[in-house]
Amino acid sequence: MAAAAATTASLCFPVNGNRTHFRVGFSANQLRRPRRLTVRSDLDSDVSDMRVNAPKGLFPPEPEHYKGPKLKVAIIGAGLAGMSTAVELLDQGHEVDIYESRPFIGGKVGSFVDKRGNHIEMGLHVFFGCYNNLFRLLKKVGADKNLLVKDHTHTFVNKGGEIGELDFRFPIGAPIHGMRAFLTTNQLGTYDKARNALALALSPVVRALVDPDGAMQIIRDLDNVSFSEWFMSKGGTRKSIQRMWDPVAYALGFIDCDNISARCMLTIFSLFATKTEASLLRMLKGSPDVYLSGPIKKYIMDKGGRFHLRWGCREILYDRSADGGIYVTGLAMSKATQKKTVKADAYVAACDVPGIKRLLPQNWRESQFFDNIYKLVGVPVVTVQLRYNGWVTELRDLERARLENLICFAFKFINSEMARQLRQATGLDNLLYTPDADFSCFADLALASPEDYYLEGQGSLLQCVLTPGDPYMPLPNDEIIKRVSKQYEANACVIQVLTLFPSSQGLEVTWSSVVKIGQSLYREGPGKDPFRPDQKTPINNFFLAGSYTKQDYIDSMEGATLSGRQASAYICSAGEELVALRKALAANEESQQVAALV
Ligand SMILES: Cc1cc2nc3c(=O)[nH]c(=O)nc-3n(C[C@H](O)[C@H](O)[C@H](O)COP(=O)(O)OP(=O)(O)OC[C@H]3O[C@@H](n4cnc5c(N)ncnc54)[C@H](O)[C@@H]3O)c2cc1C
Repeated sequence: MAAAAATTASLCFPVNGNRTHFRVGFSANQLRRPRRLTVRSDLDSDVSDMRVNAPKGLFPPEPEHYKGPKLKVAIIGAGLAGMSTAVELLDQGHEVDIYESRPFIGGKVGSFVDKRGNHIEMGLHVFFGCYNNLFRLLKKVGADKNLLVKDHTHTFVNKGGEIGELDFRFPIGAPIHGMRAFLTTNQLGTYDKARNALALALSPVVRALVDPDGAMQIIRDLDNVSFSEWFMSKGGTRKSIQRMWDPVAYALGFIDCDNISARCMLTIFSLFATKTEASLLRMLKGSPDVYLSGPIKKYIMDKGGRFHLRWGCREILYDRSADGGIYVTGLAMSKATQKKTVKADAYVAACDVPGIKRLLPQNWRESQFFDNIYKLVGVPVVTVQLRYNGWVTELRDLERARLENLICFAFKFINSEMARQLRQATGLDNLLYTPDADFSCFADLALASPEDYYLEGQGSLLQCVLTPGDPYMPLPNDEIIKRVSKQYEANACVIQVLTLFPSSQGLEVTWSSVVKIGQSLYREGPGKDPFRPDQKTPINNFFLAGSYTKQDYIDSMEGATLSGRQASAYICSAGEELVALRKALAANEESQQVAALV
């Protein structure tokens, strides 16, 4: 089973009927070896059950069938957390309304089509093989066939097109495949590799093999130190951090190893070490609105759930009971100039970090629980899409490419050279990390997610995640594009696409887009984990969901999905209590009306 997972990923299929037959995607290894033509596009049934010998918090068992009273639940936010909460509640027979301030669903996995037909995404999204909660959700909504499995290798692109790999393809699964990947990686020299192995051998990851919950506790306790601090204290080297771990840390949390908590990194490593497929990457067939959030929305609506787009929650209305306890009485909503008050039995705020801070009533900060949320901050991130008129990650022999270009130029065959390139969609079909550019991770979506991103007659669509995003936030979009795609101007200040792929010289950017998110993931710096709030709050009829809330995973799609499951479980277990509160509130309201009449 492990071997099966390790031998897959390249595709060779026509995207749709009216497009030409084309070659899609190589992994780095495939550029050196004859390609296999295996197609695996779904969540294969032989992927092992992640719940076996794993921390219980990460992979909760299926909830028991709810037997309590039906509840009316209002959810603020149609990101993955809000939608995951909705799916769970609808499956338990409750009534659900989702209110989203934006015109589209999905939150940070949202995407939309612009006026010229381009799919604009909030960011590059990759699915680790340990996303059991998200895969469970995708199976439920019938979207499990929407993921494309990539080669089981993590690819680093260095200056000059040098490829480094953490290659997990090995007939023997965890932990042997991981040990082999780290011992044989060509991303690090022998000395750094040995020190790397030492650090990993001294990590709680080893304990995770026999005692996953014990290891998770140790990992949680390492939240106070940065990954660099922890790694160097165990014998790891600064060079390993620069060449391998910083790009990974940036990809996970948009911050580097000096700033990311050891907990965040080691949570992932412990899964990689203990589960063969945890490090196997998948990407969507196409854009998230079609292949991810779209099917979830359909499932919710088919089950009677309702979406209310452009309806933002302005204020949480609340009151105090005789014993001083707070309860929510409704949500003040607005859509352009329209206003209304929404009432429900339970209210879930499934917002992002800036959203929840804006929404919580100031008085609630008297409670430590709510005040802690203000100690979390979002990390800025900028995502750039660059469409080229050829295949950027093809990694052609540089001398040959130059010669071809020269001949084409001399004989005015430029168009035929371009035509050759465009006929053959080739390059690296996987998530790519780099230590040598301002974007730490990127992918050619025309290869990796071809359904919406491969366009006949056009080339690569690089989607690059600029980290740290801070220096780019104040720049105008055209300046950002210029810096990233830099076709060597004298004042070029960063090493960018061309430096990574010298053989792409001569290709031009034909279209580009920039998406800036001022506060995206919460900053998973040392010491921040204790400030993440539980989904159950001190207010009986008010719950939280969101990837930043407390769950054992990092801020991610999986974390968002898990938070939704946890929120739903809390709501169901409070069913009787919530109905009692509803009745008490109705009686109170009635008596107030009578008193007003008298
Ligand atoms: C560039 C980028 C790349 C990423 N790559 C990956 C990846 O490869 N793999 C991975 O697992 N994760 C990745 N993530 C993280 C992942 O996208 C998030 O962790 C996850 O989507 C968060 O979901 P959420 O529902 O918790 O929050 P959000 O998606 O932020 O949803 C919150 C929603 O609440 C709405 N809202 C807020 N306030 C209100 C209000 N007052 N009224 C109404 N609506 C409101 C917002 O508009 C939003 O739609 C990436 C994130 C970014 C930004």
